[in-house]
Amino acid sequence: MGFIEPAPIRDHANPFESMMDRFNVAAEIMGLDEEVYNVLKSPAKQVTVSLPVTMDNGSIKVFEGHRVIHSNILGPSKGGIRYDMAVNIDEVKALAAWMTWKCAVVDIPYGGAKGGIKCDPRNMSRGELERLTRAYTSAMAEIFGPDRDIPAPDMGTSQEVMAWLMDEYSKLAGTTVQAVVTGKPLVLGGSLGRTEATGRGVMISAIVAMEKMKINPYHATVAVQGFGNVGSWAAKLLAERGCTIVAVSDLSGAYYNEKGINIDEAIAYRDGNNGSMDGYKGAEKIGSDDILTLEVDVLVPAAKEDVITTANVNDIRAKLIVEGANGPTVADADQVINEKGITVAPDILANAGGVTVSYFEWVQNRLGYKWNRERVNRRSDRIMKEAFDRVWETAQTYKVPLRIAAYIVAIKKVSETYRYRGGF
Ligand code: GLU
Repeated sequence: MGFIEPAPIRDHANPFESMMDRFNVAAEIMGLDEEVYNVLKSPAKQVTVSLPVTMDNGSIKVFEGHRVIHSNILGPSKGGIRYDMAVNIDEVKALAAWMTWKCAVVDIPYGGAKGGIKCDPRNMSRGELERLTRAYTSAMAEIFGPDRDIPAPDMGTSQEVMAWLMDEYSKLAGTTVQAVVTGKPLVLGGSLGRTEATGRGVMISAIVAMEKMKINPYHATVAVQGFGNVGSWAAKLLAERGCTIVAVSDLSGAYYNEKGINIDEAIAYRDGNNGSMDGYKGAEKIGSDDILTLEVDVLVPAAKEDVITTANVNDIRAKLIVEGANGPTVADADQVINEKGITVAPDILANAGGVTVSYFEWVQNRLGYKWNRERVNRRSDRIMKEAFDRVWETAQTYKVPLRIAAYIVAIKKVSETYRYRGGF
């Protein structure tokens, strides 16, 4: 397929390029035709706005915000909003494309999008964050909509941010529009089970993978990088399934205890310590990066992108990597991972539990009805298991790693839909 350019050798990691490298490999293997390839290789729409916000000291600061809609072939676009100093358009573009593949892998009727504002939410007051969120919502009012583009939380954004977004959008629309955003507080139309949904999907993916690999969870050791919403829920739920969580880490460092960390205690410590594990005494402090190379059965990178690189991949000793974060492994590290025989439950499969329950939240908002937690969990567990099996079978059929298989499943779904819908 001459239209796909081979991946160049790079000395840096760029999440969009990492995404494209895998997309290209999958496209080549499945024989994707050039027309559809060209439709999917670049985002459908990207919007950048500048947001003047009054800070608490009276000064006006101008923030840059983005929203990238990668695709709306499967339905309205869906994806979180990230508040972080590292936000840039390339990152948002990659994250938007990953949302397209993620929704397609778990077979929910959404396209993919992502938003981001370059800011430092930890050093902003609640009032500043509220004004910033309202400014962003107002600037994106034409983009967002329950049938157009539906945001959700991501790194640095919370339920409260989603509540401000819903309120601002509703004011502009002149009526309450709950379904414009997911990940809302329960009282505002949020779904039971949404907070833990991504971590729960990571746990299900890990358990299903262990079953296929004949690893007994009761004998399995796990290291979790990132102790935010995704990492801490994944750790807690894996511990409940019998696994021993020997290490966790966050921005303050990594914490190791070969006998296992008491996750409920660690979460309570973090919550009483400004959200940080700093000073945690239930484990020995080790080097931040050492968490990735511990001798464990399962490694869960649940922090951010580009952490498993060509520099450390040779030292990884886990048998199974379950990607809680989006894009934690750079494409250039894939080959070594495959050569070492490490199984990877890839991001677009393993962390899709969050958007799955977001979909349930949207469905409930539109129904005007609330499901109980049991229904949410049962249905999302089933979707995650079915998606895992689909990807596993595809990997056997094409004799490729799970990551490429997940892309094949996703691209197939989107391209078949595109063929029915067509372009101009
Ligand atoms: N930000 C989450 C993700 O990356 C959730 C997106 C959503 O629920 O729309 O999957």
